[in-house]
Amino acid sequence: MAGPAAEVELRPTEEELAELNQRFAQASPEDVLRWAADRFSPDLSLSCSFGGASGMVLLDMVAKLKLQVEVFYLDTGLLFLETYALRDEAERRYGIQPVAYRSSLSLVEQAERHGDELWLRDPDRCCYLRKVAPTERALRGKRAWISGIRRDQSSTRATVPHVGWDETFELWKVSPLADWTEDDVWSYIREHDVPVNKLHDDGYPSIGCMPCTRPVMPGEDLRAGRWSGTAKVECGLHLPVKR
Ligand code: SF4
Repeated sequence: MAGPAAEVELRPTEEELAELNQRFAQASPEDVLRWAADRFSPDLSLSCSFGGASGMVLLDMVAKLKLQVEVFYLDTGLLFLETYALRDEAERRYGIQPVAYRSSLSLVEQAERHGDELWLRDPDRCCYLRKVAPTERALRGKRAWISGIRRDQSSTRATVPHVGWDETFELWKVSPLADWTEDDVWSYIREHDVPVNKLHDDGYPSIGCMPCTRPVMPGEDLRAGRWSGTAKVECGLHLPVKR
């Protein structure tokens, strides 16, 4: 006989989200993280790409606060060696075992079904297969996830709230660094000696898959090196969430 169905997280009301975001406007990221853990653990995940500085700040905070959070990353099969090296360093440093989620299609199977180098012809499809669909599996059964996205990263993220309802994956989304700047992030990293991806030293502020990431030039948007030369600016994981 089948067991009881997993409890479905209810969508918060507009009033609840407004009240929480008003409260968190003056709160520290650690306060937001503590609130999320109190409310959602153990059904709470932290998405850490090991390619962005913000995710490493959150990992450091979660470890120091000893919060019960599942850390996961998306192994697209196209990550830089430096990204895997940082994952290994984080495992040692924080005593964690980040869970890898992968596409159900190997790169060879993807090429057989969709043609070689799908990322050049249809990056949205490629991101769906290698990032969005694995994230759906990563978040299944969870009530909330934590992300390192910030308002200053791009125009598509300019209105990111501290907490919202994620319409894509249908659970709460918590963004403790929503109102932090790039300077805030790097100040924290220096102060706490947080390990970061070595590619930052080579001009990569935002690091994703190898075929879709290049260094940025002075004055360019922090995410200008992602899907450069195309209209694409997001992989589909961070569509606007409801305030
Ligand atoms: S970032 Fe590029 S290679 Fe990676 S999943 Fe998206 S389109 Fe594919």
